[in-house]
Amino acid sequence: MNRRKKIYEGKAKIIFDGPDPGSLVQYFKDDATAFNSEKHSIIEGKGVLNNMISEHVMNGLSNVGIPNHFIKRINMREQLVQSCEIIPLEVVVRNFAAGSVANRLDLSEGDPFARPIMECYLKSDKLGDPLLTDEHIAVLELATAYEMEEIHYIAFRVNDFLSGLMYAVGITLIDFKIEIGRVYKSEFPTLVVADEISPDTCRLWDSNSGRKLDKDVFRHDLGSLIDAYSEVAKRLGVLPNANLKRSGKPKLVH
Ligand code: UDP
Repeated sequence: MNRRKKIYEGKAKIIFDGPDPGSLVQYFKDDATAFNSEKHSIIEGKGVLNNMISEHVMNGLSNVGIPNHFIKRINMREQLVQSCEIIPLEVVVRNFAAGSVANRLDLSEGDPFARPIMECYLKSDKLGDPLLTDEHIAVLELATAYEMEEIHYIAFRVNDFLSGLMYAVGITLIDFKIEIGRVYKSEFPTLVVADEISPDTCRLWDSNSGRKLDKDVFRHDLGSLIDAYSEVAKRLGVLPNANLKRSGKPKLVH
């Protein structure tokens, strides 16, 4: 991976220049972070599982006509993606209460919402990703009103697709986060789903037992993250044939 020019390194991925103009290589690391990076571990094999799961989800989105940046998987840790301008929003869709919304509104984890809701947070580690209203998004010129309409439409389409994909394998989609990018091919940019969709960016509960199969396992020390992510990959039929440490203790970084 050193032969390519590094464009950006994030908490869980590194972005390299791609082989063709307009392409990038997304490398999935084993780093797990939570609580704005206060908690950080290396969990061997996590990047491989997220690469496989995200490939499966993005291919599924393409199959139902939801535009996204995924081109193809290159190897166990890398995928080729279309370069785009990331809109600095974390777009969250929630079907059931959990995480920050449960804390903010004093709801019980797992309480269903009457209908799915979308929220946007500012992508800013410095500010701790604050919740934004549409008015904030407009005056800060983060996205136009037209783009917000489009983002809303895309986010709910992803929710319908992902809820069904997970339902079919006995998993309930509680919530998820997506990122949206602008692709400039003509005068007006088109919007695509970018980044990744994996157990790092979703809340996934076993539909029967309620067992958590997502990053909350790491956030709240609920057991082996690799066991949980492997279970999701296995049910989706994309568990790699690698020698992943199934129950190994994560290596604590700080
Ligand atoms: N999420 C994410 N990245 C973030 C923040 C949230 O992928 O930086 C995902 C998270 O895993 C969950 C959903 O977005 O599936 C909603 O997260 P929430 O707002 O509840 O924040 P949390 O309490 O998880 O930080």
